[in-house]
Amino acid sequence: MEYFKNFINGEWKDSKSGKHTENRNPANTEDLIGYFPASTKDDVNEAVSAAREAFKKWRLVPAPKRGDVLKVVGDIMLQRKDEISFEMTREMGKVFAETKGDTQEGIDTAYYAASEGRRLFGLNAPSELPNKMNLSFRIPIGVGGIITPWNFPMAIPTWKIFPALVCGNTVVFKPAELTPKTANTLVHIIDEAMKEVLGKDYIPGVVNLVHGSGRVVGECFLENKNIDFISFTGSTAVGKRINEVGGRELKRVSLELGGKNAQIVMDDANLDLALDAVLWGAFGTTGQRCTATSRLILHKNIHDKFLKMLTDRAAKLKLGYGNDKGVDVGPCVSESQRETVNDYVKIGLNEDKATLVIGGDYAKDGNLAKGWFYKPTIFKDVTPDMRIAKEEIFGPVLAVLKCSSLEESIDILNGTEYGLSSSIFTNNVNDAFKAVRDIQAGITYINGATIGAEAHMPFGGVKATGNGHREGGWTVYDFYSEWKAVYIDYSGKLQRAQIDNY
Ligand code: NAP
Ligand code: MG
Repeated sequence: MEYFKNFINGEWKDSKSGKHTENRNPANTEDLIGYFPASTKDDVNEAVSAAREAFKKWRLVPAPKRGDVLKVVGDIMLQRKDEISFEMTREMGKVFAETKGDTQEGIDTAYYAASEGRRLFGLNAPSELPNKMNLSFRIPIGVGGIITPWNFPMAIPTWKIFPALVCGNTVVFKPAELTPKTANTLVHIIDEAMKEVLGKDYIPGVVNLVHGSGRVVGECFLENKNIDFISFTGSTAVGKRINEVGGRELKRVSLELGGKNAQIVMDDANLDLALDAVLWGAFGTTGQRCTATSRLILHKNIHDKFLKMLTDRAAKLKLGYGNDKGVDVGPCVSESQRETVNDYVKIGLNEDKATLVIGGDYAKDGNLAKGWFYKPTIFKDVTPDMRIAKEEIFGPVLAVLKCSSLEESIDILNGTEYGLSSSIFTNNVNDAFKAVRDIQAGITYINGATIGAEAHMPFGGVKATGNGHREGGWTVYDFYSEWKAVYIDYSGKLQRAQIDNY
């Protein structure tokens, strides 16, 4: 059985703790993938020191050259796409078509970052004084702590690490303890590309990988004064803690947090299309996407008909190991995640008094008993005040609510603390534009599922979903760089702005 290592200062090494944790296939817990280091504060400190040292040199590598590294990273990922995706399915459960999408998102992000190395545009503005020039540049920040969840184990780390690197920062990366192998692969690829592009000028310590738990390794990021910024994707509870400590220490913090996303279906919608979308949005990735469709808001005129169509199709979804052909839905990622889902089902039945339409139990037939499977679950008669309508469940559970107008549907959609993704199915162009204007969310789809963001567009949410930053596209470069204003006075005399000219 393979023992994996941390990557610190250009070397693969064990944790100083000597301890490890197991990584198992959630679709078949008899399948042991490997042992990963349970790192400690000493490992974090060593990695941060290495990143700090590497920053001195990496920031001076021309940005287009840093982009060249990312170009090679994208090329290697493309060559190894199937293998990376197969292992990702084995590690965290979602089906192969989806892990291929996850890997592709990393490739797209690599190529975008590569080209950004030749842009990183700054703005110039005229000076208010004669014979003087005003410029502004993006400059790197320093050392970043990257903390990521398990549900997009390739895409999310790449969204953070690639733009951070192109801007000239160095990083220490702590992946989720449930998906260390994909992280291990990513860091191997980055290092291979660094060596290929930089050759004898290779700089150790630009990217460091420290495995371990959030409670230990993640917390060490917060207290380490040599970490200048933290980019975090995960739960709102942990995000608030990072924001609190990071705020006190004046660290720059980017937070991408939870969601309670809804799809609205109006009575003039294409119902077949809306059906395909909700099945994909609610049960793709076993409902474990931050953008998953967790609520379905149906217009009363089509409510019963659509619910029947949905139930028939949901009952036919095939559960299983995501690397097997014909499987639609994989397992929950872990036993505790499945317990959370089951607890919410009990809340829906007992506390909320909603009506269970389908599912509501573990799936244990045959080989499914070996993994953390849960039946696709639908509740009807859900009202906006119920806990299953307000709280993030992160599993294959869909709450169906009824509305009688566009305004009411949007009120219901907006009635949670989150604001990540949203969707409306309608063929009324006026209603579609009103929805775009009035829905409180970072992402709105018209006649599309709540999932399916593209890597070159701004990604993130409003309200408790984050702290105002976005990942993806051009917007993320504002997080990973600072502005430097430069004044060049070629008048040969002391010119005092605001004073000599007014
Ligand atoms: P989580 O428990 O918050 O964990 C996310 C990461 O934070 C993991 O690497 C975790 O480490 C680490 N962590 C845990 N406690 C920490 C602490 N005290 N200090 C620093 N780091 C800590 O979230 P999750 O349950 O894995 O992921 C699901 C959540 O992520 C959902 O709420 C989902 O909506 C959200 N999500 C959001 C987006 C988005 O872009 N908005 C995308 C995907 C997921 P360990 O788990 O290894 O201990
Ligand atoms: Mg695992």
